[in-house]
Amino acid sequence: MATQTLKRDVVIIGSGPAGLTAAIYSARASLKPLLIDAPPDAEKQTTPGGQLMITTEVENYPGFAKGIQGPELMEEFRKQAERFGTEFLETWIREVDLSERPFTLYGDDLVIKTETLIVASGASAQWLGIPGEAKVPHGFGGNGVSACATCDGPLPAFRNKPLIVVGGGDTAMEEATFLTRYASRVYVVHRRDKLRASKIMQDKAFRNEKIEFIWNTAVEEILGTPEEGVTAVRLRNLHTTAEHTFPISGVFVAIGHKPNTQLFRDQLDMDEKGYLITSGKSTATNIPGVFASGDVQDSVYRQAVTAAGTGCMAAIDAERFLDHLPVAMPSGEEVTIEGEHITPDHEAIITPDGHMIPNKPELVAQED
Ligand code: NDP
Repeated sequence: MATQTLKRDVVIIGSGPAGLTAAIYSARASLKPLLIDAPPDAEKQTTPGGQLMITTEVENYPGFAKGIQGPELMEEFRKQAERFGTEFLETWIREVDLSERPFTLYGDDLVIKTETLIVASGASAQWLGIPGEAKVPHGFGGNGVSACATCDGPLPAFRNKPLIVVGGGDTAMEEATFLTRYASRVYVVHRRDKLRASKIMQDKAFRNEKIEFIWNTAVEEILGTPEEGVTAVRLRNLHTTAEHTFPISGVFVAIGHKPNTQLFRDQLDMDEKGYLITSGKSTATNIPGVFASGDVQDSVYRQAVTAAGTGCMAAIDAERFLDHLPVAMPSGEEVTIEGEHITPDHEAIITPDGHMIPNKPELVAQED
């Protein structure tokens, strides 16, 4: 089959709150964005619509006083992006070349050239990969198993019930502490006898009388019924290898997240965990014209509303860039689409051919 080539000004990769908000803003700015969605794939862990698609009720997204189901919220985002003319394309991007503009994205039988790229490919929760953990109907995911206490902890199914948090990092401590507001008791199941979490988070969890630690232990299986949800887990002591069934009403997996940035390795700057590095003052990455928003560049807040906020910022940044206005880079400089660099102190402009000119308004001769 002949390879088709598309040319666009704005391409967005990812269809969670960040990507769709970037689409709404750039479509309203008449930039005709193309939003690329990966097809659903259990092996690649792609979820069009992002992590809210695997959440049940969302109670903390502003504007929905009565709460809203995660998939329904994403459907609203999508319709809003469509309404302003966002073009959607479901394809798996295999490779990107960001070495020159227009940037090139390679899909199956498809090449996409774009002047700006907004990366909103999100992050995926790490899962244990044990029986009973998969999403309903294959397991209890969404029916007693969650990877987000902030999203699901306050649900009626977990109120005044004993719950398990798996993991020993800051997320596990934070989730366990948060869940004690609702649960009758929270058991932290950790595979070692030492926590990875920072001291302050550990101390907070140790001081909480509702939290109990189960050390050197792995969760081997999640048990329950479709009607009741989770009712127990099978635990294995990693020292003695002894196994036992432990009655429980919910399992929160908190063993880390993985940003979906494999595609950009060796091209975009990332931290040691793979999160994209953006300028503190904009969503610019190290490559002028490439912007990042949402969980792909945020390991701290990771909320739908913060992702949507940075999606809006990325669209405005892309629009500024296409309008020949300077955009703040992670290096502290500002860069224009023509390749001019404004120094961090704003004193000088370095032209693409290396000349330095003062960044001062030209003085207009005053008449007496
Ligand atoms: P981490 O990678 O720090 O911790 C993951 C935890 O899960 C570790 O204890 C690890 O065990 C355990 N784990 C990993 N894989 C498995 C597995 N297959 N089976 C059982 N246990 C497993 O991830 P976090 O999400 O906790 O934190 C990520 C980053 O975000 C950190 O830098 C953290 O500091 C930061 N963060 C900060 C917060 C804050 O400051 N408020 C809140 C939340 C996160 P082991 O220890 O044995 O490797």
